[in-house]
Parts: sequence; C-alpha cells; structure tokens
Amino acid sequence: MKTLIVNSGSSSIKYQLIDVTSFDVLQSGEAAQIGFPGSYIRSKSKTRMKHINVALPDHEAGIRMVLSGLLDPDIGVIKSLDEIGAVGHRIVHGGKYFDGPAIVDDDVLDKIKKLIKLAPLHNDAAAKGIEACMHQMQGIPQVVSFDTAFHMTIPPEHHTYALPYEYYTDYDVRKYGFHGISHDYVSRRVAALMGRRRESMRIVSCHLGNGGSICAIKKGKSFDTSMGFTPLDGIMMGTRCGSIDPAIIPFIMEEKDLTPQEMDAILNRESGLLGVSGISNDIREIDEARYSGNYRADLALKMYAESVRRYIGAFAFEMGGCDALTITAGIGQNSAMMRRMILEHMEGFGIVCDWEANANVGAKDCAISTEGSPIQVYVIHTNEEYIIAKDCERLCAKPEEIAFDKDPLKEPAKDFDTSKGIPFIEE
Ligand code: ADP
Repeated sequence: MKTLIVNSGSSSIKYQLIDVTSFDVLQSGEAAQIGFPGSYIRSKSKTRMKHINVALPDHEAGIRMVLSGLLDPDIGVIKSLDEIGAVGHRIVHGGKYFDGPAIVDDDVLDKIKKLIKLAPLHNDAAAKGIEACMHQMQGIPQVVSFDTAFHMTIPPEHHTYALPYEYYTDYDVRKYGFHGISHDYVSRRVAALMGRRRESMRIVSCHLGNGGSICAIKKGKSFDTSMGFTPLDGIMMGTRCGSIDPAIIPFIMEEKDLTPQEMDAILNRESGLLGVSGISNDIREIDEARYSGNYRADLALKMYAESVRRYIGAFAFEMGGCDALTITAGIGQNSAMMRRMILEHMEGFGIVCDWEANANVGAKDCAISTEGSPIQVYVIHTNEEYIIAKDCERLCAKPEEIAFDKDPLKEPAKDFDTSKGIPFIEE
C-alpha cells in the first residue's frame, strides 16, 4: 500500500509518499511560503528534483500542487491518485480525546478544531491540510496520528498539576506531552536493536531538536514526559525556556509592562539557548562562540546539558531504574559534543560510554555505551513518518496488503538502513 504522509505547518506542507510494504520513500517534497510572496513547491523522487515557483495563497493550493507533483510526468511516481491507499496527517494536539490514530470523520475533524485554542498554529494548519486533502482526494481515507496520543498512558500523579483541581476538570489543564510519535518510534527501535521486547523495558528517550523533550517509557508505555500542557515546559530548548519558576512570569510582566501575548512570545521565541547565549538557537554557532571565550555561550551549553541530565535522573528514578537511554533529533543525532556533556561522569549511575563510538556516530543507529554498561545508550535516527505510515496501514490496509514484519531479532543490529525505517515487533 502507498501512503501519503502530510505534515501541514502554518506556511508549509511537507510530504512523503511511502510504500508501506518496503518502507521506501518514493517521493518527498515541500510546498513552502504558503500565503506569502515567493511561494514554491519542491519535489524529489529517487533520481530527480524539481522546483517550481508558484503562487500558493492557501493550503488548498498547497495540496493541489503536492498532488500534481505526485502525478507530474517528469518527476511523479504515480499515474493516478487511486494508487494512494491512505493519507496520514501528523497532528500536534489530540487533547484528551485521542489515545491513538483515527480515521478522519466529522467528529474527529471537529475535535482537532476544538483543540486549536491549545495549539493555535499547529492544529489550525493541520485542519486546513486535512480539509484540502478531503476535497481533492475524495474516497481516500484520511488518517490522523497525534503527538500527544502516546502520552495518554501517563498516570494522573504525573499528569496533574498542583493547581486548584477545577482547572483540570473544567479547563482540561493537565500534562499532555508532545513528540509522542518520535518517542514511540525510538523506543520500539531501541528494543529491536537490543533484541528485547519493549514491554519488558524501562527506557529514557531524549528527543533533542530545536524543540526537545524527555520521555520515561515503562513497559512500552509513556510514563512521564518533560513537556506539559504546552510544548514550552521541560528542558531548555532552542528558543523556549523550559521549566522555570512560574512566579517569574507575573514579575517580569509587571516590571516591563508586558501583555500576556508579549510574555508568551518571549518565553517561546526569545528564551532558551538563544536567550541565554544572545547568539543563536543553533548549538553549532554557540559552540563556535564558546571556543572564542564567550562566557554566555559556555553557560548556555552547560545549562542545556544540565537540564537534560536532570530529567534523565528524575525519570530513571521514577521508573525504579533504566535499561536503555536513547538520544535522537537534530542535536541528539549530530552533536557528539553535547552528547558527551550530557553523559560524562555518569559511571556511578550505570552509564558507561564509549567515547570513540560517540565521536563516530554516522547515519546509522548505534550504541555509544560499552557492552557492559548497565544502562545501554543508543543514538537513534527518529522516523516519525514510519509510525504514521504504520498507523495508516493498520487502520486502512486490506488484510492481503499487510506485509508481516520481519523478525527484527534476526537483523544485524548496526546494519539497518535507517533511511528505509525498520521492522519492529507489533504490540
Ligand atoms: P526541530 O525541532 O525544528 O525539528 P531539529 O531536530 O531539526 O529541530 O534540530 C535542529 C537543531 O539541531 C539545530 O538548531 C542545531 O542546534 C542542531 N543541529 C542540527 N544539525 C547539527 C549538526 N550537524 N551538528 C550539531 N548540531 C546540529
């Protein structure tokens, strides 16, 4: 079965057409600058790329160009839209309504729209992408996979805030958590690489990108996570502050005479690595400045590592131990320096790293701990599209179209081709 995976942002639509049986990415691309001057569509098949500058006033136009790229005589890999078995949409917020993927109907779409107030940019754009696909791909099922759904197993003692209880019952103020699709993938993947079943493991998963979160996964289920009611909470991030004393907020609002919107923008866009370093949200640029003796650059990197370490310790303690620690996303996959800052001097805690392996992480998933390390540490290349494609297959494929996964235990651990996704055990 071929699935079209769609990730609609406020001004872009990224897509991948995936053959679910082989997990080959047949075509991918992006409609960018939607609603702005200079909009374009870029498509990439295995052998070619095509870039077209075209007016994209809205998401309807964006989806129209994505579909015409798939059918394009030069670069397209399908002859008819009927070849697409399902469309999978990545949705940031599923609120309390969704603990797994769903096929879109009026009720599902209503709930996604209801949640716009909790994720204004993300859910609004996603709803527009879904509606455009429904108009232009009638008869093809639309599936939604939520970043929050994986975290619906977090128990009340971890998802309730110490606020008046009515905020929980009347306003749904609770920890939702995000990056669930990534944490789900990474934890399945590490279990497969270690030849273990995820249900028997305690995993701390670190998704360290521009946004970042840590997740405690106990027996295959999210048990706690660092992001909260919104993606602002938790570790320090590229431009987000992560957890801070909440009393700072009214104090600064009064001192600087700020509106709630202005304060919100500062916490989300002017804080984190950028706010402390005053240089960038990108650790590569901060690291460069640190080498020329910049104090704030050095401080920002130390604070980042400490904030991640704090959650690793807390979550391992919450689960009563930890069998595997995983690191993924832009910073996690690419920065040997940051991985070392986070993991150094942890031998007493059961993390014994192989620093040569850490320095040589490439495009493949691999362990960076020694064989005897009580807690195994893996760098995993996250693959959210894989989980969404599997959701589409599970909900929409005809039985004869479902390819049974190969037994991952028989795959040589370090030789998976991560560009194709990996087989893992269905639970
Ligand atoms: P997002 O949360 O936007 O998906 P990513 O997972 O792509 O973010 O992570 C982006 C961040 O990853 C960058 O801001 C940078 O700090 C870091 N990063 C990306 N590539 C590298 C690299 N080659 N070396 C070190 N850090 C990198």
